[in-house]
Amino acid sequence: MDKIKKRNSRKKQSFPASALVSLLCLALAVGLVAALAALLDKQKTVDELIRQNYQLMEELEKEREEESLFGKEMDGSLEDGEGAQAGEPEGSQTQDMDEERAEGEEGLTDEASKEETPKEETTKEEPTAPPVLESLSGLAPGTVIREEQLDFSNLEKYFMSWEIEAGDNLYQRINGKSYRDNPYVPLSTLRYVKLPHYNFNGEIQVGELVVNQDILEDVKDIFMELFQAKYQIQSMYLIDNYWTGDPDTTDTASIDVNNTSAFCYREITGGGRLSNHAYGRAIDLNPQQNPYVSYSTGQPKWFHSNADAYIARDTGLPHVITHEDLAYKLFKEHGFSWGGDWNNPKDYQHFDKNNR
Ligand SMILES: [Zn+2]
Repeated sequence: MDKIKKRNSRKKQSFPASALVSLLCLALAVGLVAALAALLDKQKTVDELIRQNYQLMEELEKEREEESLFGKEMDGSLEDGEGAQAGEPEGSQTQDMDEERAEGEEGLTDEASKEETPKEETTKEEPTAPPVLESLSGLAPGTVIREEQLDFSNLEKYFMSWEIEAGDNLYQRINGKSYRDNPYVPLSTLRYVKLPHYNFNGEIQVGELVVNQDILEDVKDIFMELFQAKYQIQSMYLIDNYWTGDPDTTDTASIDVNNTSAFCYREITGGGRLSNHAYGRAIDLNPQQNPYVSYSTGQPKWFHSNADAYIARDTGLPHVITHEDLAYKLFKEHGFSWGGDWNNPKDYQHFDKNNR
């Protein structure tokens, strides 16, 4: 009995302890499950957040792609940095060019600001002089050049001449116009001359002539002395610039614009024989102020109305050639005759030298 009691009593004593442990274990388990559930729930939330984040990122990416497709419209926003990454290579090239342009404009602005601030020390520097020319070969006839571009201590180098060869650029310019194949004037006797002269505005201008080799040195000397004296010649272009289709009306067109010229394969005015111009041995100088005047009827007759003021030769008007004129003196010194000394007609523009 005692044993049973003891057993019972032991039973009675141990039951509550083990139940308590079981309860504790259960509570722990429930707690763990709850915590786990909470954790799982949290993980869900985190996953959801990540998913939403990805979605947002995808949307952003989409927007950027759309922006790059309309890159040109984005140029404005590139300036403030927005969407800078959206620029494709094409866009970035544009940006580079803009930067270059901006640098250039910046340079200009700097120079302009120097000019606008005359009190600044920088204005004490002389403006950059244009380079002194070594020759006129690269300059087109009619080009105006500044005095400081010429080396006045060595002017000879600007009075240049070239032979003309069949097929070259100059030949192509004159062939079929002022020059034609003929039995009297071989191409090899002609020279192309380029030289500086003063125009009627007092500017230095590039002129050109074709002359015979026989008078080449005379022409260079005469025109260099005229240049040193700042003698004004309105223009000196090859007569081919005014080509109309025949030599006579071409001559008229050149005179109408007061152009000085030399070679043209043509007969004398009125016909009958070759003019000295056909050999390149005659030069017509400032023809408007120095017209061709016929006195066959006793009364002066002239063709060009722009010469009306220049029939009377003693008016003292500028560019009128008289016996006191420097051009007359220089041509005379070099053995030329002057058309103004003929009895009839009088050709005041005309100087020639016949070496034949
Ligand atoms: Zn003439």
